[in-house]
Amino acid sequence: MVPFMCARLVLFDIDGTLVDCGGAGRRALVGAFEQLFRPGSVSAAMLVPFAGKTDFRIFREIAHALGIKSQRLAKKRAEFERAYELALHRELHDGEDTTQRVLPGVLTLLEKLAARDDARVGLLTGNIPLGARLKLERFDLDRFFEGGGFGDDARNRRGVARAAREDMQRRTGIDFAPDDVVVFGDTDEDVDCARHNGFRAVAVETGWAEPGSLEAAKPDALFRDLSDTDAVLETIFAE
Ligand SMILES: [Mg+2]
Repeated sequence: MVPFMCARLVLFDIDGTLVDCGGAGRRALVGAFEQLFRPGSVSAAMLVPFAGKTDFRIFREIAHALGIKSQRLAKKRAEFERAYELALHRELHDGEDTTQRVLPGVLTLLEKLAARDDARVGLLTGNIPLGARLKLERFDLDRFFEGGGFGDDARNRRGVARAAREDMQRRTGIDFAPDDVVVFGDTDEDVDCARHNGFRAVAVETGWAEPGSLEAAKPDALFRDLSDTDAVLETIFAE
């Protein structure tokens, strides 16, 4: 590892933090699930809360709600990924949904970070890699991310956070101290996974957090959205 004293590793959650896909991910996940297991199970599946969870945890919870055994679930994993990929692509590109958007300030912030040599940028997301790629490509944001942690790297978000740092260390050759890692997310689970690994946590209210839950999680900083680029950068590079 090459020591580089001042480099920050900035890790971003996707849904509710970078982009709002207008529920495309949820619809694609539920659609793929129904296709593989049980037509007409949408209403039960929709009862499972999604925010802050990894795709596979959502998948398991839907299955549990419908009484499907985990063994049967594991066997269908590759098939499920393929069905999800097709459904998500359709939802993101052919749908009538006009609510899909990049969240305020995100593009400017990513451009500013990309222009600096003291920051590296990665993902920390519950999405499986193909879901992350499709969602970011939809808005031409994939070019900003070198790597990171994904929903299939670990059973829970804390493990995904650990995997994100490890992946970025491998890719950059930089040994990021935990305190030099800054996690951006829209739920208390994002804050929790940062804290658990000794990372800094920045919460943003552009997602689906329950009112008050972000303050309660005590992030290092809390923003309504990311449009005040200078203030956000100041937080990232604060000593
Ligand atoms: Mg999120």
